[in-house]
Amino acid sequence: MKLYSLLFIGLLLSGCLNTTPVTNREQVVFMSPSEESKLGETSYKEILAKSKLSADKVQTERIRRIGQRIAIAADKKDFAWEFNLVEDKQVNAFCLPGGKVVVYTGILGIAQNDDQLATVMSHEVAHALARHGAERMSHQQISGVVQSIGSVLVKGYAPEYGSTFDTAYSTGVNVGIMLPFSRSHENEADEIGIHLMKKAGYNIQEAISFWENMKKMKGGESQNAFFSTHPSDDERIKKISLLVKALNK
Ligand SMILES: [Zn+2]
Repeated sequence: MKLYSLLFIGLLLSGCLNTTPVTNREQVVFMSPSEESKLGETSYKEILAKSKLSADKVQTERIRRIGQRIAIAADKKDFAWEFNLVEDKQVNAFCLPGGKVVVYTGILGIAQNDDQLATVMSHEVAHALARHGAERMSHQQISGVVQSIGSVLVKGYAPEYGSTFDTAYSTGVNVGIMLPFSRSHENEADEIGIHLMKKAGYNIQEAISFWENMKKMKGGESQNAFFSTHPSDDERIKKISLLVKALNK
């Protein structure tokens, strides 16, 4: 049973390998890009139905103009790009699979110029280009399968340890895989994002200023969702500075 399960997982994984742009990392994604875009489209409609689009035509046009430049740089033929500005104090922005980008007005207070807005928008677009959402879902599915197999085996051979295995396993997955995994996605989105920004003709030096502004904001608004997934700390700023320096040579 064990061998067949491993073979099955192996076959499953080899059929679903994908390579990220810029960083050329091999990743496992079970979903096809078109399935992913469909999911993106559905969530986009749900989110827009619950949101209030900004009535500020000048700022909305600005977001769309920056977005179009990033979209051209991303060169993704199967994406149907859309850029919207939503009236919301939250410091947040995201790009759904398939190219639906939402920027919240709250971010306009932090991004001090077009280059800084391009920083956060490129970063969000990079998450979608690198298919991070689908990759996370795939990893959760894998860890679910591995957990059930492990649990069945342990329960079969040593039933008294069954629940210990489940607890140890889920703690291990959260601490050992999921958390650093999200940090590595952040670093990768920073890297791809800065390449995109540069390709779109923006000043990548401003990326450092943007994340420094975020760091200053963090004290007052640490409960904000964007800050919990986008920690702006010295390590992040250092990595970005090194990359900007290398690209500006
Ligand atoms: Zn991010």
